[in-house]
Amino acid sequence: MARILITSAIPYINGIKHLGNLIGSQLPADLFARYQRGRGNEVMFLCATDEHGTPAELAAAKAGKPVAEYCAEMHEVQADIAKRFGLSFDHFGRSSSPQNHKLTQHFAGKLAEAGLIREVTEKQVYSNADDRFLPDRYIEGTCPNCGYEKARGDQCENCTKQLDPTDLIDPRSAISGSTDLEVRETKHLYLRQSAMKDQLDAWIDSKTDWPVLTTSIAKKWLHDGDGLQDRGITRDLDWGIPVKKGDEDWPGMEGKVFYVWFDAPIEYIACAKEWADAHGKPDAEWERWWRTDKGADDVRYVQFMGKDNVPFHTLSFPATILGSGEPWKLVDHLKSFNYLNYDGGQFSTSQGRGVFMDQALDILPADYWRWWLLSHAPESSDSEFTWENFQQSVNKDLADVLGNFVSRITKFCRSKFGEEVPVGGAYGEREQALIEELTKRIRAYEAHMEAMEVRKSAQELRAIWVAGNEYLQAAAPWSTFKEDPEQAAAQVRMGLNLIRLYAVLSAPFIPETSARMLSAMNTLDTSWPEGVDAALSALPAGHAFTVPDVLFAKITDEQREDWQTRFAGVRS
Ligand SMILES: [Zn+2]
Repeated sequence: MARILITSAIPYINGIKHLGNLIGSQLPADLFARYQRGRGNEVMFLCATDEHGTPAELAAAKAGKPVAEYCAEMHEVQADIAKRFGLSFDHFGRSSSPQNHKLTQHFAGKLAEAGLIREVTEKQVYSNADDRFLPDRYIEGTCPNCGYEKARGDQCENCTKQLDPTDLIDPRSAISGSTDLEVRETKHLYLRQSAMKDQLDAWIDSKTDWPVLTTSIAKKWLHDGDGLQDRGITRDLDWGIPVKKGDEDWPGMEGKVFYVWFDAPIEYIACAKEWADAHGKPDAEWERWWRTDKGADDVRYVQFMGKDNVPFHTLSFPATILGSGEPWKLVDHLKSFNYLNYDGGQFSTSQGRGVFMDQALDILPADYWRWWLLSHAPESSDSEFTWENFQQSVNKDLADVLGNFVSRITKFCRSKFGEEVPVGGAYGEREQALIEELTKRIRAYEAHMEAMEVRKSAQELRAIWVAGNEYLQAAAPWSTFKEDPEQAAAQVRMGLNLIRLYAVLSAPFIPETSARMLSAMNTLDTSWPEGVDAALSALPAGHAFTVPDVLFAKITDEQREDWQTRFAGVRS
């Protein structure tokens, strides 16, 4: 039995995510986790909310709540939606957990011991009215280049010129609008990534099985311009993990916190400890996933993320781990995704454009979305959600191909043989041909799933459903029944066994429907079809079943048009 550690990029806390976020990491990670569990492997699937940083503080202020309270509430909201989408995390943690505080401070201490931290004194804008330092993008003013009045301290949106906050004319706080700003000196910690360039370079070189897209992004950051830069890992904020050197205070860093990008990936590890603590398990139970000196040397670690997160996962987080000098597990395979666009434009959280996870579940069950999103995953390039395509895909793949198959065979059986698997007849040539085709297709499906080729896996699964339909169409038990009821019985037996087989194979994509199919077939047998022949005899003659309700309702043109209008504008 293989042991597979899976992490999904952790979603930021400030609000409900849209479908583009979902398909960018959590959903394909869930597909992989469910598949590996289905194959009988031991899986640890972790995700969490990313809770620190200025955007969380501002969102909390806007909601009129203390930031800790806001994050606790939003975590519950995100956890609930994840559950309703069938995301099967072993633990859904929080980057603000005590476990992550401790571990982040531990890593900082180890990096300092290794001489990989340096202190830098910088000048930064302080807002007296807000009583805080302002990150560059929270300072607004007039662009010295084009005169645009809402230029940000890091860049002018209008003319795209890169700016320093001190370049702005009439600078003001983007938080309060106050112009009572001054430049103050402040001290920060930098992780000396430049000193680790060769070590990281060699590690990337050892990843010969990674996609070129991934390694080329990492190489670019390592070698372009002046090469890999040192990175500030602290901020002047209240909300975050206090800067400490392990358990000890860090002189001169009082009142500062670690930068959210430093502590967020460490939460992948801390999340496993949260899991162990939540279940009353000893540390050895989570350490066997993460410490190569404590059992993790045979673990395969796979990360899922959007393409914008690749540099942090190929360089920054590995720099933290390698720099600590401790035997933590490093990533073995990294699966990254392009972007999903929405109906001729982009999903936009700020403009409320597109479908958000809660809205999606308000109009249709999770499996409809899971199927469309996974079968159109933005793998080799960006992909686009359109309502026409969604309607077509749901109506054809789910309702016509899979749903109709299940309905047809169960209803026919009930009308001619009653609600049990019929006795009599035997599988003949036609059935042998089907078994051969399915065997070939199922082995291909496994190979695609193993390689995390999401779209190819969906295509193969669909072809497996189609093969059953074609069999049923050609065998036509409703005609056979008149001439040869025994043979019709064997054909129906095959059909009912296909339902169980489809439920097992489809579970990673459409888990809720799969459970309904198994329940209708009155079986708990979810064993993977190592031998298709045996799998198609799993339900013996005489086995009772029930006819399930319609598995997938078709989307009408009226519904499609209604939803198209509803989600075009601003989220209300
Ligand atoms: Zn400008």
